Amino acid sequence: MEKRGLLERLKDGGTIVLASGYVFELEQRGFVQFGQQYPGVVLSKPNEVEILHEEFALAGSDVIQGFTYYAHREALKNRGREDDLEKINTNAMAIAKRVADKYDKLLAGGLSNTPLYKQDDAESQKKIYEMFKEQVIWAVEAGADYILGETFDALGEAELALKAIKDHGKGVPAVITLAVYVPDITTDDIPIAEACRRLEEQGADVVGINCGRGPSGFIPLLKEIREVCKGPIAAIPVPFRTTEKEKSFYNLTDSVTGELVYPKNLDVVRCSRDEIRQFAEDAKAIGVQYIGLCCGNYPSLTREVAEVYGKNPPASKYSMKSKYTDGDDVSNLEPHILKIRKHKLGY
Ligand SMILES: [Zn+2]
Repeated sequence: MEKRGLLERLKDGGTIVLASGYVFELEQRGFVQFGQQYPGVVLSKPNEVEILHEEFALAGSDVIQGFTYYAHREALKNRGREDDLEKINTNAMAIAKRVADKYDKLLAGGLSNTPLYKQDDAESQKKIYEMFKEQVIWAVEAGADYILGETFDALGEAELALKAIKDHGKGVPAVITLAVYVPDITTDDIPIAEACRRLEEQGADVVGINCGRGPSGFIPLLKEIREVCKGPIAAIPVPFRTTEKEKSFYNLTDSVTGELVYPKNLDVVRCSRDEIRQFAEDAKAIGVQYIGLCCGNYPSLTREVAEVYGKNPPASKYSMKSKYTDGDDVSNLEPHILKIRKHKLGY
């Protein structure tokens, strides 16, 4: 049977769950160094990448995203790995494709923000376009079902990614998401919802926001984006407790020490599973069709989202109950179990 593509799956209100956050999760597992987060691990430890793809597939992700975050020419040149550029891209896609094929998932190629973008500088823009072009070509050759351009803080750079996909993607759909930090505008000063509207107008099949903020900071923007965009919208926040005062995960502080927690001590501001579930409920009510989690995501969080979105993933058979494991009804518990429970809870 022919695989159903992204647009087919999104038709008539269909939904897509995307597991992202490979850099942070592979760092946590000891295979990526933070700050050097180009995906060299697809060459040095390909099995570890494949295992994580598989965990996300079982947790309910509809998409296996090739781990090509920051695998563009500039990032690799800066890290002295330019010779490995093509190999990293093609290996990342081949690993992801194995898992996508095994579980009938969509295979996504990825483009990401660069440190090069300057407004009103045609030369830097041409350079970025060429970098995106080669990555699009490699992704399509590897069989990508669509290309995801993500974490763009400038609308102008997102537009370059979209153009590269349109020009060289051989017709594969384009999903473009903007990073959101403290202000509700892009770094080239366009309100986020308006930037999404423009990307949609220029032919992006799905538009939205990813990274930067936690769930609570996404909701108001998603409402605005839903108002102005016609097609499917995307929401991929980081699973951290950003607040009205500390809007992005870069400026979150530890309530005990007062120190900034990004990147090393983000554990103290993680969202609970219930908060992630609530976010998925809220996003669904707003009409978000393409949902996921970014940096800080791990399989059990993807499972929460996938369950809310009705995906019934295989990993659900291991889902935890939200209540205390013995339940609230203690009337039938044997006295010695009741005693242990009392010791555990203290009441
Ligand atoms: Zn992220």
